[in-house]
Amino acid sequence: MSKTVGTIWNEALEFIKDNVDEQCYDTWFTPIKPIKIQGSVLTVQVPSKFFYEYLEENYISLLKAAITKGLGEGAKLVYSIVMENSYDNSTPPTMKLPSSGRKKHRPQSVNMPVALTNEKSIKNPFVIPGLQKLNIDSQLNPNYTFDNFIEGDCNRLARSAGMAVGKSPGGTSFNPLMLYGGVGLGKTHLAHAIGVEIKDNYPEKTVLYVSAEKFTQQFIDSIRNNSKNDFVHFYQMIDVLIIDDVQSFSGKEKTQDVFFEIFNHLHQNGKQIILTSDRAPVELQGMEQRLLSRFKWGLSADLQKPGLETRVAILGKKLYNDGIEVDHEIVEFIAYSINSNVRELEGALISILAQSSLNKKQITMELVKSMVDKFVKSTTREISIDFIQKVVCDYFDMPLELLKSKTRKREIVQARQLSMYFSKQLTKNSLASIGQQCGNKDHATVLHACRTVNNLKETDKRFKTYVEDLQKRLTLA
Ligand code: ADP
Ligand code: MG
Repeated sequence: MSKTVGTIWNEALEFIKDNVDEQCYDTWFTPIKPIKIQGSVLTVQVPSKFFYEYLEENYISLLKAAITKGLGEGAKLVYSIVMENSYDNSTPPTMKLPSSGRKKHRPQSVNMPVALTNEKSIKNPFVIPGLQKLNIDSQLNPNYTFDNFIEGDCNRLARSAGMAVGKSPGGTSFNPLMLYGGVGLGKTHLAHAIGVEIKDNYPEKTVLYVSAEKFTQQFIDSIRNNSKNDFVHFYQMIDVLIIDDVQSFSGKEKTQDVFFEIFNHLHQNGKQIILTSDRAPVELQGMEQRLLSRFKWGLSADLQKPGLETRVAILGKKLYNDGIEVDHEIVEFIAYSINSNVRELEGALISILAQSSLNKKQITMELVKSMVDKFVKSTTREISIDFIQKVVCDYFDMPLELLKSKTRKREIVQARQLSMYFSKQLTKNSLASIGQQCGNKDHATVLHACRTVNNLKETDKRFKTYVEDLQKRLTLA
């Protein structure tokens, strides 16, 4: 006898219950109603589109695993969204449904077939106006704690300001708290640590960690879906908003505008804002003045490269956490050899540990020396757009001002396009920010430049040589 939809769903729920915490289970899974089963397709009813999006974004693999257990591979989930007008709000919530083309008569129930195997793009967990606060996943990494964040001269101010904010979010003058510094120096770790600390001290507070890029993408999606208000509304109800790598907002005016709006709302309501950036606020190019001046309202604290002692302490802590014993001499040697940033230090340690365990070799000084040699050579330096522009200008023997000017002369256009192309290839900057720094061009111009270079290097021998020469100069330097 085949199982009923109820039984299958209950079994799935049992499985889910074992895999999420209680609060999350109550919030996100008890409200789901099983409707029917047809073959391997299970239809469930969810209360709103927001609900469905949130499930899809956060629990898709769990749901897939749960229903695959009952229905076998090929199991599919279909959501039926029913708007129950059960909020004690006189106006029913209006949700934008995917372009059904029917504007006037919104259907009460919409079936949204979702193949579980589909890669879903990241959506914003929107909130229905009038609905009380929801249990939002903070997106925090529980391993990034203050405990694991070694203190040194390089980070003392940032760390202690972070701890103060962790104890009293919104209650210090460090609002916003802006953490800045080069790559791999611990900005993301510290930002999470503050969030984790706040969650520990104030479990009822809504904390959200989001990268500036994800924020931007959500914003763009919301424009496309005609749901910008939901987007803004969602962010305005956060108690502690952590935005990582805000330098990526540079050159994106619309995103900056909406962030400005959200920032003001949160700040006025005593909510805590924590930002990170790979450079000091004054050096953020392509950022609106009014936003920059907001950044300076609170405290900007920088993270610097750790000194030898701190590097030894960081390695020691990692080894201790992993329960591995290594001679102090060896730890010092690694710390001494790798002084660029903490990420590379960790990377080197991980490869050494991997080598020793793969080949069942002891971690000896000899092994470490040979590994470190390889590691130091193979790590590529972070290349900046400025550096690329300088190398390109040197190569063509032309002044930098011309490259950044509006001149349409062929040689100069070419050099400019090459700078853009290499900036895209070798840095993590967005198209918009590359354009901004290469003579105030927009992202489409940069995209066009990249395509042109790709075409020319296939069809034009001389141009191919330029690309190869520059590539060498840029990556060997
Ligand atoms: P950033 O965001 O500045 O690029 P991350 O926060 O990602 O850097 O840090 C890179 C790695 O170095 C992470 O694994 C982090 O845990 C580690 N790290 C950085 N600073 C410290 C520190 N002071 N103590 C321990 N680990 C650190
Ligand atoms: Mg980071």
